[in-house]
Amino acid sequence: MVQHDIIILGAGLGGLLCGVILAKEGYNVGIIEQNRQIGGCLQSFSFGKKLFDSCIHYIGSVSEGKNQYKIFKYAEILDQLDLMPYERDCYDAILTGDDPIMYPLAQGYDNYVAQLAKYFPHQREALENYVALIRDVLQKFPLYMLKNGDPTEKLDVLNWTLKEVIDDLFSDEKLKEIVVGNSILYAGNSDTTPFYIHALVCSSYIEGAYKVRGSSARIAKALWKSLQKYGGTIYRNEKVTFIREREDASIEVQTHTGKHYIGGKCISNIHPKQTLSLLESNKIKKAFRQRIEEAPNSVSILMVNIVLRPRTIPHRKYNIYWNEGNAMEVLQRLDPESPDHYAIYFTEDNRAPGFAETISLLSYMDVKELAPYSHTFNNTGVPVVRNHEYEAYKNKIAQLLIDKVAVRFPEIKEACLKFKVATPLTFRDYMGTDDGSVYGIIADARSPLSSQISVQTKVPNLFLTGQNINVHGVLGVSITAVSTCAHILGLDYLLSKLNQEDA
Ligand SMILES: Cc1cc2nc3c(=O)[nH]c(=O)nc-3n(C[C@H](O)[C@H](O)[C@H](O)COP(=O)(O)OP(=O)(O)OC[C@H]3O[C@@H](n4cnc5c(N)ncnc54)[C@H](O)[C@@H]3O)c2cc1C
Repeated sequence: MVQHDIIILGAGLGGLLCGVILAKEGYNVGIIEQNRQIGGCLQSFSFGKKLFDSCIHYIGSVSEGKNQYKIFKYAEILDQLDLMPYERDCYDAILTGDDPIMYPLAQGYDNYVAQLAKYFPHQREALENYVALIRDVLQKFPLYMLKNGDPTEKLDVLNWTLKEVIDDLFSDEKLKEIVVGNSILYAGNSDTTPFYIHALVCSSYIEGAYKVRGSSARIAKALWKSLQKYGGTIYRNEKVTFIREREDASIEVQTHTGKHYIGGKCISNIHPKQTLSLLESNKIKKAFRQRIEEAPNSVSILMVNIVLRPRTIPHRKYNIYWNEGNAMEVLQRLDPESPDHYAIYFTEDNRAPGFAETISLLSYMDVKELAPYSHTFNNTGVPVVRNHEYEAYKNKIAQLLIDKVAVRFPEIKEACLKFKVATPLTFRDYMGTDDGSVYGIIADARSPLSSQISVQTKVPNLFLTGQNINVHGVLGVSITAVSTCAHILGLDYLLSKLNQEDA
C-alpha cells in the first residue's frame, strides 16, 4: 500500500500542474499515470527521425507578466521551455474558399485591429468594439486574471452565442468568417459555441502566441523535474481501475496491476465520466452522475504528420487555417473523404533555419467514421497494428487531406517525404478517453450550466481537474489547476504566491 498526502490520477497538464503546486507547498504528492509517457496531450512522438507534437502546437499568454507566464514561472519551468514567439503581425493566417488573401490575426489588441483594418477599413470601429468586448468578457472571469472575484459575474455572458455576437458586431460577411477562422481551436459550432469560449481562447494568443522549441513534451518533462525537486513521485504504467472513500475519509485507489494507493486527498485529472464510473460512493447524487454521463464531448481530429524534404518549404512563424466557407458551419457536415477545412502547423528545421522540417495537418473527424475498427486498441504500452483495412482507410483519408491542402499549397505535397496519421482512435487510446474527443466536455450556450463542473465533489477529499472542468487548452487547464489547488491551499493564499513578482 503506497501512501501520500495527495494522490493525483493522470499525469496530463492538469495533474502535473496540481502536483507541482501542491508539492511546492509541502504536500507529499504521488501521481498515477496509465501511460509510459507522461503528459497526456503534451506527449510527443518521433517519426522519420523527427519529433512531432501529438496535440499542442502553440500556447498563449506566456508573455512576461501574463497569466500563463506567472503560472509556469511559479511552477519553475519557464526557463526550460525555450519559447519561440510567433510573428507579431500574424500568429494565425486565415484563408477562406479560393480567396487568395491570407488574412492575419495579430498579437496585441490594437495590432489585431490595425492588421485586419488594412483589409476591412470600413469595419475598423467594429473591430475595436470586438476586442473591447473580448477584454470586457475576460474581466468576468477573475481567475483568468489570477484575481479573486465574484464567480457569479460570468453568469451574464455564459449564454451569449459566438454567432449572435459576431453577427451583432460586424456587417461584413467575409470579416465574420475571418475572426472565427481558427475556430477548430475550440470546436466552434454556430448553434452552440458560447462567445466567452472564443474570447478566452483567442485572447490568450492575442496576448502572446508562442511555440515550445522541440516539442510541447518539454512542458511535461519540466513539470516532472519540478515535481521531483519537491519530493513528488509519478507512478507510470498504472491504470486506475477503482476509487473509493475509506472510513477515515482518505481516498483509496486501485490500479490494473493490483496496487493500492492511499491519499489524504485525491485529485482526478481523468475525464469526470470515467472518474465517476470508477468511483464507488453513495455520496454522488444520481442526477449528477446522469448529468456527467450525458454531457456531450467535443468532436475528434484527423492529424497528418508530414516529414518534409529538407530545405524545400519556408518555415512560417504562424499557423494557417483554411475553410471552404464559414468555419462555424463545418461541424454540421463532416466528411473525411471531402475535407472542407484544415489547419497547418509548421516546425522549423534547426539545421536549416528559415525552412520547415515538418508539417502537421489537422481536420475534424467523427470517431463514428471508425466504428468498424473501434474494438481494436493501440498505444505504446500495447502497440498493435490494428488491421490492414484500417491502415488503408486512414491512409486514404490522409491522402485526400494532403490533396486538398495541395490545391492552395502544391509545394507541400511535392515536399512530402513520408507521413504518419493519427485518427480519433489514436487520440482515444493515447489520451485514455472514451471517444478521442479533442477538448472533452464541450460548453453549450443553450445550456450554459451543464458544462460548468465544480472542482469539488460531494466526496469531501476527492477533487477534479483538467480540460473537462471549465475550459480546455493549456491556459484553460492551467487556470482550472489553480482553482483545484485553491480548494486545498486557499484561493487568496495561492493567488498571492502566483502574483508574487519573485515567485
Ligand atoms: C489534437 C489536439 C490539438 C490541440 N492543440 C492545442 C494547442 O495547440 N494549444 C493548446 O493550448 N491546447 C491544445 N489542445 C488542448 C490541450 O491539449 C488540452 O486541453 C490539455 O492538454 C488537456 O490536459 P488535461 O490534463 O486536461 O488532459 P490530458 O492531457 O488528456 O491528461 C489526462 C491524463 O490522464 C491519464 N489517464 C486517463 N485515464 C487514466 C486512468 N484510468 N489511470 C491513469 N491515468 C489515466 C491520461 O493517460 C493522461 O495522461 C489540443 C488538443 C488536441 C487533442
